[in-house]
Amino acid sequence: MSRVYNFSAGPAVLPEEVLKEAADEMLDYRGCGMSVMEMSHRSKVYDDIIKTAEADLRSLLSIPDDYEVMFLQGGASQQFAMIPMNLMKNKVADYIVTGQWAKKAYQEAQIYGKANKIASSEDKTFSYIPDCSDLPISPDADYVYICENNTIYGTKFKKLPNTKGKTLVSDVSSCFLSEPMDVTKYGLVYGGVQKNIGPAGVVIVIMKKELITEDVLPGTPTMLRYKIHADAKSLYNTPPAYGIYICGKVFKWIQKMGGLEAMKQRNEEKAKILYDFLDESSLFKGTVVKEDRSLMNVPFITGNEELDAKFVKESKAAGLENLKGHRSVGGMRASIYNAMPIEGVKALVEFMKKFEVENK
Ligand SMILES: *Cc1c(COP(=O)(O)O)cnc(C)c1O
Repeated sequence: MSRVYNFSAGPAVLPEEVLKEAADEMLDYRGCGMSVMEMSHRSKVYDDIIKTAEADLRSLLSIPDDYEVMFLQGGASQQFAMIPMNLMKNKVADYIVTGQWAKKAYQEAQIYGKANKIASSEDKTFSYIPDCSDLPISPDADYVYICENNTIYGTKFKKLPNTKGKTLVSDVSSCFLSEPMDVTKYGLVYGGVQKNIGPAGVVIVIMKKELITEDVLPGTPTMLRYKIHADAKSLYNTPPAYGIYICGKVFKWIQKMGGLEAMKQRNEEKAKILYDFLDESSLFKGTVVKEDRSLMNVPFITGNEELDAKFVKESKAAGLENLKGHRSVGGMRASIYNAMPIEGVKALVEFMKKFEVENK
């Protein structure tokens, strides 16, 4: 068996320990005689798995009791619709557009009401986070929406926007559990888990209970109502049971690693190795303004498309996979999520140094 360093933006690298544990339990989960994939989601054993996962997530993020935790399906993209369907009471919401995912959410919301783009960084291909300290928040906005870490462009909100008292909704798909987060600053925070937590097919929604009501837009399907899932403790229908089980293992892994403060330190250390090299390199350049750099997704270019393609090809041959940038940006992107070991980042930088010398 040989594993590569996988820099994919998502689905992405998972902790090897978690994968090994899952492999050990594949045929016979703790004496049940069956795999978690095969068991009833109504069984006592599964109930324990999902309840433990929720409890561990609550403890990692210190989620207060007045917030609901839901394990849902449909990916992060389904939330683009579910959020307006459930929260647009006045049919008005403000969107801060800092990348493709925020833009998609903004476009989706227009189906359901008046979505206002109150700030954007599209003028400079989303290479920065706009100043959000004094935005023209709509007086009747039901919420203000952000995408906190922009997976494609490699920017991150280091400071949350001033929503002037409005509910903050945030997509944290690609920075979920990468560092501590104060859940009480948000009305709703959600993320698809395939970036930093588990296998695709699960989206976690953490939502203030008082926002979960039966008052949703007419025509909202049952499966897209938060109240249905909250009341049923994420077991209204068959949940993505195996995916939730893996998420639970990743929560335990993070706890073992020292929790979110330790994760943050580790992620800062990893990102610094790569950014420091980008800042001194004569061949490679980061594409994002320094203050807004993501700890998770690091896009970079040589400035020469042919050289970029050569880099992607040769790095792959060296066991450094999935470094090709997003199709909308080009160049390269290294996603260095929680589960990427520091050795992986060091190996990448060593490879970049060698490539630089060879291609001067
Ligand atoms: C990947 C990603 C999405 C889309 O996730 P799906 O689960 O494929 O719908 C949305 N937002 C962010 C920030 C992402 O990184």
